Order: sequence, then structure tokens, then C-alpha cells
Amino acid sequence: MSSRTSGTDSQNHSLPAFDVDGMLGHLAKWLRVLGFDAAYPCKAPSPGRTFITAKRIAAGSDTIIVEDQDPLDQLKQALEHAGISTDPGLFLSRCLLCNVPVKEVPRDRIAGRVPELIFQALTKFNECPRCGRVFWEGSHAERMKMRLQKMGLPS
Ligand SMILES: [Zn+2]
Repeated sequence: MSSRTSGTDSQNHSLPAFDVDGMLGHLAKWLRVLGFDAAYPCKAPSPGRTFITAKRIAAGSDTIIVEDQDPLDQLKQALEHAGISTDPGLFLSRCLLCNVPVKEVPRDRIAGRVPELIFQALTKFNECPRCGRVFWEGSHAERMKMRLQKMGLPS
């Protein structure tokens, strides 16, 4: 990704918004999986947002420093530092590419846009209003959920 995705978000004003350091792409993805506003890549915090980095910098209250290790460990550290817990209702509620909230899309509008087996098996589909990508809770989502739950992060 060459351009920075911004996090204009009309739905979740009570949740913290994160600016994620360019070296922490996997962490940014996991934050989005959990429905958090995670702009990436960033070099410094913007007003009202929390900067997450693995660099040993002199950190202000708007910065969280995570240890440079597994992205899921970093995710847990960041959420603990921010004092927030995950909300299962927000799982996969945000486009993993664009960082904008997805919207539920009527099933008949996605015929032919997802694998036929998926289309037949599931009833709920979400679409990104920016890139048009369709998201659903299939086996990939289940595997992500299991990894999160193993870390003690309900999703
Ligand atoms: Zn998108």
C-alpha cells in the first residue's frame, strides 16, 4: 500500500482510533479484524489518535510501545495499554484494506461475486463501501477467531 488510509469513522466514536507505525502491518490488520480504526502506515500520531510503534522512543500519553514479536502478542499488548477489550459484535466489521466500516449487503447483490459454495452456505455478507470487497464469516474467519481466542481475546 502506498497511500495512507485514513480512519474517518461515523459509527464508533467511543472506541480509540490507532495510528500504526509502518513496521507493524500485521498488527494493523489484526486491529482491523477486530473492528478497530487502525490507520497504516503512520510515522507519528495525529491529534486524538493513539500511535502504536515498536521503536524505543520517548513516548507521550498518546503513544503505545509494543515489543517487536508476534503480531498477536503486539495486539494484546496494545489493547491492554489502551485499556480496551474486544467486542465480538465488531469482528470483521471493517475493511481489512481500506480501514472503513463495512456495510451489510443484500444477498442477491453479491451473487457471482463470491464462491458459489459460500453463497449457498451463508446468509450474511458485508461489503466495503470504498473498494467493493465482500466479506463473510467463512472458514478463514473461523481460523482468525480461534487464533484470537487462544490469545484470550474474545471475538
Ligand atoms: Zn475496502
